Amino acid sequence: MVMEIISDITALRARLKSEQSIGFVPTMGNLHEGHLSLVTIAQQHARCTVVSLFVNRLQFSPHEDFDRYPRTLQNDFSLLEKAGIDMIFLPDEKIIYPVPQTFQLLLPTLADTLEGTFRPGFFRGVTTIVLKLFNIVQPHIAVFGKKDYQQLHLVRDMVEQLNLPITILAGETIRSENGLAFSSRNGYLTPAEHTEASHLYQSLNQIKHAIAAGERNLKLLEETAKQQLNQRNWRVDYLSVMQRNTLLPATPQDTELVILAAAWLGTTRLIDNLEVTLTSLPD
Ligand code: AMP
Repeated sequence: MVMEIISDITALRARLKSEQSIGFVPTMGNLHEGHLSLVTIAQQHARCTVVSLFVNRLQFSPHEDFDRYPRTLQNDFSLLEKAGIDMIFLPDEKIIYPVPQTFQLLLPTLADTLEGTFRPGFFRGVTTIVLKLFNIVQPHIAVFGKKDYQQLHLVRDMVEQLNLPITILAGETIRSENGLAFSSRNGYLTPAEHTEASHLYQSLNQIKHAIAAGERNLKLLEETAKQQLNQRNWRVDYLSVMQRNTLLPATPQDTELVILAAAWLGTTRLIDNLEVTLTSLPD
């Protein structure tokens, strides 16, 4: 099957009309192994796989990196062709936002915590584009990465509360050998920063092991890890141990946890997270 590249909504809908099983992976392009792992999941669960490439201005604040966000279309095309997907949806801004997007979603308070604290309006922009893309593509399943844990959580809640007939699947975070999660923003890092960047994941692992070993002073663990990173010249936005199901602060009684972090290395902001499951609580 030949991969099609479609920019037009009417043409896309016409092409997808007869498809009984559509799997969808929304991306902002500059594809890496993380994105490709989501494509594999979509292919395992659907007959026709659609990947969108669209850098969504609505989720960037004016001072953020929209203009310099990496755009590598030719490489993305060849990776997706090699992966054997059926269709790329490649709209331009005029197709997605022909008029100013004055209708947007009212989000739960969760959207103002963690990432939302440091990127006001970010999740409004994300959920608005995801809902628009869902309405355009009308997939049966859609795949999101755990790398963006809070985003996955909010998309799941949106789908449930707005009764969208879409199954959301989650892909594990794919990492390079040193533990650094693949991200389009890793391209901003200098070689030295790239090496240093593995310390974010190391910090998460340190906390995970401390919790598994019985440490229940979660605030102390968070503060120690933040201090260690700051001493290494990171600037930590947040590093928090949360309940996995609610993304509210964890208590010492919780067994299903996720440690979420965002931190700056030079001019690059990285995010990462790590799930922790405790099979038994210490006495
Ligand atoms: P983006 O292009 O950054 O908007 O990401 C598109 C999708 O890829 C999102 O669902 C991300 O969570 C997912 N993703 C990004 N990085 C990774 C990674 N390292 N491993 C798995 N999924 C990822």
